[in-house]
Formats: sequence, structure tokens, C-alpha cells
Amino acid sequence: MDLDTAREVAEKFFNKSGDIKVLAGERNPNLLVTSNTEKFVLKIHASDELQQIEVQQVALVSLEELADFQTPRTVPSIAGDLLTDIGGGEFARLLNWIDGELWSETKDLSEDHKVQLGKLIASVDSKLAEVDASKHLEVLNRPFGWNVLRAEVLLADIKLIADAELQEHVQTIFDRSIAKSLPKVRALQHQLIHNDANDNNVVVAHGKVTGLIDFGDLIYAPRVCGLAVGCAYQLDARDPVASIYAIVRGYHEVAPLSPAELEVLFDLVCLRVATSVVMAHRQLAADPDNEYLAISQDYFRSLLPALTASNDRLAHYRLRNACGYEAHPDSRQVRQWLATTEANISDVVMPPFAQASKIWLDWSGENKNIARSWEAIETEMHAAGADVAIGHYCEDRNVYESDFFVDEGKESRTVHLAVDLFAPAGTPVYAALDGKVFLFHDNTAHLDNGPMIVLEHQTDQGVKFHTLYAHLSRESLEGLSVGKEIKSGQQIATMGTEEVNVGWPPHTHFQIILDLCDMAHDIFGVAALSELPVWRSICPNPNLILRIPEGTDIHAHMKTETLAQERQVVMSRALSLNFQKHLEIVSGQGAYLFDRAGTKYLDLVNNVAHLGHSHPRVVEAAYKQMLTLNTNTRYWNQNAIEYARALASTFPDSLSVVFFVNSGSEANDLALRLAQAHTKAKGMMVLDHAYHGHITSIIDISPYKFNGRGGDGRPDHVRVAPIPDAYKGLHRGDGAGSKYAAEFKRELDSLDQPLCAFISESIVSTGGQVPLASGFLKQAFEMTRAAGGVCIADEVQIGMGRVGTHFWGFEMHDVVPDIVTMGKPLGSGHPLAAVVTTPEIAHSFMTGMEYFNTFGGNPVSAAIGQTVLDVIVDESLQRNALNVGNYLMDEVRKLAKEIEFIGDVRGSGLFIGVELVMDKATQDPGTQITKDLIEFARDKGVFLSSDGPGDNVLKIKPPMIIGKAEVDQFLDVLKRGLQKN
Ligand code: PMP
Repeated sequence: MDLDTAREVAEKFFNKSGDIKVLAGERNPNLLVTSNTEKFVLKIHASDELQQIEVQQVALVSLEELADFQTPRTVPSIAGDLLTDIGGGEFARLLNWIDGELWSETKDLSEDHKVQLGKLIASVDSKLAEVDASKHLEVLNRPFGWNVLRAEVLLADIKLIADAELQEHVQTIFDRSIAKSLPKVRALQHQLIHNDANDNNVVVAHGKVTGLIDFGDLIYAPRVCGLAVGCAYQLDARDPVASIYAIVRGYHEVAPLSPAELEVLFDLVCLRVATSVVMAHRQLAADPDNEYLAISQDYFRSLLPALTASNDRLAHYRLRNACGYEAHPDSRQVRQWLATTEANISDVVMPPFAQASKIWLDWSGENKNIARSWEAIETEMHAAGADVAIGHYCEDRNVYESDFFVDEGKESRTVHLAVDLFAPAGTPVYAALDGKVFLFHDNTAHLDNGPMIVLEHQTDQGVKFHTLYAHLSRESLEGLSVGKEIKSGQQIATMGTEEVNVGWPPHTHFQIILDLCDMAHDIFGVAALSELPVWRSICPNPNLILRIPEGTDIHAHMKTETLAQERQVVMSRALSLNFQKHLEIVSGQGAYLFDRAGTKYLDLVNNVAHLGHSHPRVVEAAYKQMLTLNTNTRYWNQNAIEYARALASTFPDSLSVVFFVNSGSEANDLALRLAQAHTKAKGMMVLDHAYHGHITSIIDISPYKFNGRGGDGRPDHVRVAPIPDAYKGLHRGDGAGSKYAAEFKRELDSLDQPLCAFISESIVSTGGQVPLASGFLKQAFEMTRAAGGVCIADEVQIGMGRVGTHFWGFEMHDVVPDIVTMGKPLGSGHPLAAVVTTPEIAHSFMTGMEYFNTFGGNPVSAAIGQTVLDVIVDESLQRNALNVGNYLMDEVRKLAKEIEFIGDVRGSGLFIGVELVMDKATQDPGTQITKDLIEFARDKGVFLSSDGPGDNVLKIKPPMIIGKAEVDQFLDVLKRGLQKN
């Protein structure tokens, strides 16, 4: 259609006049109409496309509800039609324009954009899955070259590819997928899919993937087919499989992929690439001048050799791993079989191997002085009287210097997948299990495997796996033939000399490998560090066979990026991380934490490491008691009993009965049980914004959670009193405490069931380090008791001398609770928590139901708890908290005179809040300033965190050992961070 006619159509039928431009397109004309400032796409269709357009409209309407991404909306004609007959057998549609640029035109795309692309495709799929496509199956299933389920229709056209090499790659992919994968794909659940998330159909705006356009290729197929299309345009020939991890992860995050889908995904990606090549040749034959058709061909041409060279099974394992499934689907079964089988497992060397004297070699990259030569190994063995030296499984080594371990443009392979058994050349080597010879070969390249034998075995379920024995003598290979039966314990080889072994000292490299992935003779004995989780699964620990009790797995330190990716899929994504730029913290010492690179950070966040990180006396107490005894709590044990007495002695008289538990949440749950047993009631009073723990019963009494994101709101048995905040709450100044008490009473009176308890911290931490207004707690306790309830003090955050003036926070308010819960600091880093209560409440808990807690107060935890109490005294830490805390608050108050953003400084001892505001008078929360300051401080080596309803209060609760030097470091960062604004 020419531009004049198009302009006429836009005006006459849609009342849109303005600039008009042709857009690139594969089939029918697409025109950009700019009318005033609005942009539209005018699409012209022939009458034979109407059925297809109808299903597109259905899809587009369903996608109007899409939350995070945009898809085109159809603009009705003047007559109100979504599709308009414009005469001459042609029809027109007008779609709104999605702002942004196409992916193909966007610069600086990152892995994160690929994650977003995966999410986009998954979000669209999830919506389209709700569409009833049954009325449209005829058009959706038509023989259509871009419908992968109809791939066979393209077979005849492969011959159109003139380049013989290219043709062969395409043919290989078609043959492989049609035979192996398509039957499996056809068995998957079908739905309507977009089927064309190529880089010319994905919209990016302001650095984010925002939309998907062009619904002309809709088909009825399994959703993994559409994901494969998206992946096909993002491949990198250096490692095609790794290049789609991010998209697949993004998709899986929104719409989890099943193992059956992942099994066929890579083949579908390859098939899409091959399809594109055939389609281009088919269409170019008909329309040699169409540039759009040729666009992706150079890209695909360069990719095909990499795709045909990628083993499809290995790709499958890698994609499973990327989504959090174990890489090899049969690995667990093989490991279980090896762990339990009655089959004869034989010693690989030196039977009876259990009695051989062993030493372990450290060949890790960190060891700068490894015993690399046989002389050095032999010297170590002689010195220790060892028969054999063991080289570790999953050790990251830097001995693999030859090109053999480095593929152009890829990460070097450095992590050992076998166990090495070093012994003199000529030492006999035996088959571990019954099996047959799978392959044998003399690998003569420098630092390669040397003479090597691979045996094949199977579990009783028929799952095949292999054992690999490398660095043998050359004679070992004589007389072997593929398929030859081998018996468990049969001598199959001897260890080779250094010369035969192409540069390695005499040893046997013994490896279990589930799938050789068509590697022929170049079988990976070493993997790239970033692929370690994949290879751990394909090559399980050979100690399943060797059975060396001291162990062989050294757990190479993975890359931080790998850890990040692993955490994302094998742990809950609901589990949050500190800072926008997350960190891998590897050690702690005193008030400091250290990241992987050795960068030091002052930790002002961690009130768990009460005595400082890795306190030597805590470590020693734990170690000594671990060496002696740890059991459950069903015995008399001095540690627990003496510690209970010591802990109780820190409380007023009435609080004398102690229960040990393992976390603050558990302590609060037990407190509820005690209170319920005593009062026979369930009603609860809590303070607004309070948090008391993560378990079901405690989320119910934590407004911070039940009123926060994802929360279900306040339960019926709970009433929430306003937080008694004298700085910016409802009531301020003198008398605020009583006014808040009156609010508390109002809420209490509204409770329509008997009161069980009131629970509160004495400085509300999640509320923004808010000290309770003076006099409030005393009155609230009185009101609670008058209503028949008991009073619970949650000291999980603030207790153990932290507030400086007192050992426990409630003591600041001249009250004595009925129950106190403790957690975080009790074990100074070890999970230990406790509840203390009155003899009366403890008595009410004697209902006949026994109380048993496996770990609470075990001998090790109790030894640690006692040590923490001792160190607080020995190192005068409570006094330190008071002095250093006062110094910190005084200095920040001085700063507040110069810096407008510091609205309030409050707290006690080393439990401090600094509230950042936009303006001291209006007290508008400085939420963004706080966020920026925390990131700034992190970059400058100081860890801070924030809380409060506006997330604008710095929570300062460092290890109790910090001194003025650390405070000065904080003050400097605070000043610079805030002055920068
Ligand atoms: N109570 C308070 C006041 C807390 O701050 C927390 C944890 N932040 C808990 C209870 C729960 O402790 P845990 O995380 O050990 O279960």
C-alpha cells in the first residue's frame, strides 16, 4: 500500500491525520502514524488473514491486564470496529504505539536485561494460558514455517541453502530435534503463545524491558517453544548454553519451568535458529530484495557451528542446573544406589584400602608450594609413612597450565572432578564394580589423561554410569576391547610413569561420570569453576566408591556470581539481602567483617555478634564442648543448669525459671504458650510496627509483618496500640506517656475476648528505634494486669547490657515483666535464645504435656551462653556500651546542628536511632537520603541499616566492643554522606 492510500485510510476510518512512515515487516504492511503527539501503528490485512487477526485480537485483549509489561492495544475505528473493511478485499487495524526502542537497537544490554526478557515472555505466556484457544485451533495449527511443531514442513526446503557447510549444520539440527525432541514437545501441555520474542519485537525504555509487540506469529503450542524463540536471538557463539541462562532464569522466576520443558528447550532453541535459516532462504528465493528477511542471517550463520558442537544432553543438564534442579536427573539415583547397594564394590588400589596409610595433598590454587613432582610427593609420603597420597575432589587447582584446559574465549577449567590416588608407578589398579569396557585410549597431549580406561556400569534400576581410571601404564590398554566384561576387583591396569603420563607424577585419577556427553576421548576430568554445580552432579564424589572416612571433597570456593545465581534458585527468593550492591562476606573479626576481596567493613548492624565477631573465648568454649559432648537436653548437665542460674540472676527475683530455645521467634512462641496456659485466654495487645519473629503464631502479633507488604492484616484476637513515640507520634512532650497509655486502653477495651498478654520491646526496633515515651510501659503493664493479661518483654534485640544503663531494657521503665524473651546476643553468633518467667506461670505450664526441646540449652549452646555472660563482665562491656553509646549520640547531636537532615538522635547505650528527615520542622522522612547514605557508607567501609515506618531511621546496634575510634569512623562517613546531598 502506498503512503497516500495509507494516510487516507488513517484519516477516513480512524480520524488520525499526520505524518506516516513505513515500518519494517516480514509480511503485511505496517505503517507508523503520528497524529499530533500520539503515535499509532496502522496494519493492513488481506481477507484471508481475518481468522488469524481474530485470534490476535483475543490475545491482545487478554494481555491488557498484564501488570509489569505493555503489549499493543487496539484502537477502535470511528465506527467502533477493531477491524475495518477498507474495501478492495483489504482490512485495517490501528494499534497504539509502545514507547521505547527495540531491543535490537538498544546499546549496553546486560545479563539483567536478559532476565527481564525471560520475565516478559513468562508473563505474557501466563496471561495467554488463560485464553480459550479451542475456537481458533484451525488457524493456529496451520502449516506455518514458524510453528516449530510443524518443523517437518521445512525439511524439503533445506536444500535451498546453497552453502554446503551451512546446509549440513541445519540438517543436523533438524534431524536431531525431529527424532528426539519434537515427540516430547508434542506431549507437553499446549496453550496460545506469542512465538516471536525476537529482538525486533521486544521494547526497551529507560533501560528496562517494557513491552512485546507483533502478535502475527501466534500458535497453539507448549510455552517452552516461545521461550526458545526468545533465547534463539540472544545466543553467543562462545557458549550458547550459558548465554541463555539469564533468560531462562528470568522465565523460571515468573513461571517455573518443569524438568520436561527443560529437557527439550535447548533443542528447540537450535531448531529455531535452523528454522530461521531455512525460512530466510525460502523467502529470499521468492523476494530477493527484502532486507528484513536477511537481517538475522549473518548472526545465525556464525552460530550454527557452535550449536551443532554443543552437546544437547549437556545443555539440558546445564539448563536444569540454572533453574535449581539438580543438573543430571539420574545423579541422585546413582548416588543412592552406590550408598546402599549390596553389589560388590572393590578397592581401586591397595586392597584392603581401608588399612592403607594415607596423606592428603593440598593442590589448591591458594597453596603456593604444592608437591607437584613425584619426588616431592614421595618425600611427604615417606615422612608420614603413607602408602598413598590423596588428591581432593572439587579442588580448584592452578596446575592445569596446558592449552588443553583452555578453550578460546572461555573460562579455563580448573576444578578437579576426580579423586587422585598417588602411589609409585606400577601400582596395580582394580575395577571398582562389575561392568564392561566402554572406551580406552592413550591421550598423549601434554597434561592430558594419558592412557585411560572407562568402564560402564548400571544400577539395579538400569541407570548407566561410568568409572574412569586415568594416568595408567601403556601396557594397561593391551588386550582390551570395547564391551569386554570386567569383574569388580579385577586388576585392570597399573599406574603409569611420569613420561607416559604426559607430565603428571604417577597416580590414578579416579572419577565417576554419569554421561560422557559425546566427549569421545577428551573427557572432562576438570571443570570450569562457574560450572561446578553442574559437574558435581554429572561426576559425583568418587568417595561413594573409595569410602575414605576422612573425606575427599574440598568444596572449592565458588565465584561470587555463581553463589548469587545458586542462591536465587536453591534458596527462597523471599529471603532478603543487605544493600543494593550485595556482598559475599567471608570472615569477621571483632567489630569488622571482610568480603571476598579482603575489604574491611565496620559492622554497626550486628547485635548478634554481641562480643564481636569470632570472639576467641566463644570459639574455644564451643570447640571444647563439641569435643567432649553434645546431646539433647534429657540429661542433667552442669552447663545448662549453671547457665540457667546465671542468666536468671540477671533478672529481678520473680523471674527465676528459665527455658532455653534456639531463636527469638521460638522464644516468643513459647512465651505465648506460657501466657495462654496461665491466663487460659488468647487476646493480645501489641504495639504498632512491632516485629517479634517469623513463625506463624508470631507473625500474628507483628504489625510490621501483618500490615506490611504481603501481610494478611490484623487477626481478630489482636489489638494494636499506637507506638508511644514522643518525637513525632500523636503525642509529644511532657505527659505523652500517659496519653499513649490512654490510647492503649482504648484499644484494649475494644478487644472482644479475654486478654492473654501484652508484648513489647522497651525500644521498638522495627518501629525505628523508638524509646517508649516515659511512663507508658508502667501504665500499660498495670492495664494489662487489670484486664487479666500477663506482660511480656521482648529483649531479643536490646538485652544483655546493650542499653548501658541497665542489663535489660525493661529496667529503664521501672517495671517487672511476667515473661521475658531473649535471643540474638545470647550466644554472640551461636543460635541460642531463652525465656524466663515466674514460678507461678511456670507452674501453670505444668499441664501434663511434657515440654521437650531437642537443641534448646544443649551442652554446647549452654557453654557458649555462659561464656558470653562471663565476657560481658570480664571485658566491662556494659560500661563500654554506655560510654561509647553516649559519645556517639553526643557527637551526632553536635552534627545535627550543622546538618538539617538529622532530625533526632535517640536510644540508650549502643542501641541507637538516628532519624533522617527532609526538614527538621516538618519531619518529612528522608527515605531516599537514608537509602543513599547506607550505600555510600557501605562503599566507604561502614555497614548501616535502617528501619521505621518511613525507613528513615539509622539503626545503630554494633558489637558491644566498639570504641571511640570506630565511632569516629562512623561520624566521618555520616558527615560526608549527608553533606554530599
Ligand atoms: N523479637 C525481636 C524484637 C526481633 O527483632 C527479632 C528478630 N529480628 C525476633 C524477635 C525474632 O528473632 P529470630 O530472628 O531469632 O527468630
